[in-house]
Amino acid sequence: MPIEKTDAIILKSFKYGDTSKIARCYTRDFGKISIIGKGIRKGKALRSAYFDPLSYLSLLFYYNPKRELQIFSKAEFKGIWHSLRRDVKKLSYGFAVLELVDRSVTGEEPHEELYQLLLDILQYINDSNGRINKVFWFFEIHLLSLLGFRPRLSDCPHCHNELTEGQFSGEYGELLCNDCYDKNIKRSHFIVKDSAVSHRAIGLLKKLKRGNIKDLEEIKLQPGDRKQVGRFLNNYLKFHLEGIRDLKSLQVLEQIIS
Ligand SMILES: [Zn+2]
Repeated sequence: MPIEKTDAIILKSFKYGDTSKIARCYTRDFGKISIIGKGIRKGKALRSAYFDPLSYLSLLFYYNPKRELQIFSKAEFKGIWHSLRRDVKKLSYGFAVLELVDRSVTGEEPHEELYQLLLDILQYINDSNGRINKVFWFFEIHLLSLLGFRPRLSDCPHCHNELTEGQFSGEYGELLCNDCYDKNIKRSHFIVKDSAVSHRAIGLLKKLKRGNIKDLEEIKLQPGDRKQVGRFLNNYLKFHLEGIRDLKSLQVLEQIIS
């Protein structure tokens, strides 16, 4: 079995048997893979720590594409996000990021841009002194785009008029202008609560969508933005990505920031 080397971020791990551990990781060159560390809980504590969520590693493993579980060989930490690990709020966002990637990405195809997004976001949350919610929104909207679900923010998908403000439609999975929403809602069984999105919130979403992570500092938030932008992205994620509906870390996050 060939030995392979790649950069990896641990998304989730659990104990296996008396001495082993299994981890799911997102890697730069192999996409999402699972690895088993046989006997890794026996020796030095440090070795077991490689398997903790949020570990950022240079990983060596025995690769067999026909197997679902790859075999851990060796690792080194590429960096440790100290601030992210110590701060409860940052940690909650960090876990929500990991859980979103874990639940929304399927298959082993590598996706360099997605790997880079994950890495950049965790680094940014670690370094951040400011509001993390806009970093998280940036992550959500770019994750959606990279997975092929780019929110349509310029025009109404029903009448094609320019969108100035709108409501999230549980039938279209997009924002509808208010006129179409009022007509549409009567024949739709999918009514989404708190679906209104203002002109200002649409502007913010557009900035987040086309922006670079380095531009986030320039985005200033006002009271009310969190509800509208946060709820829109929540609705959008739940509609388009399977398995997101009951995300535990998002529920924890909502409790912490509300
Ligand atoms: Zn319309």
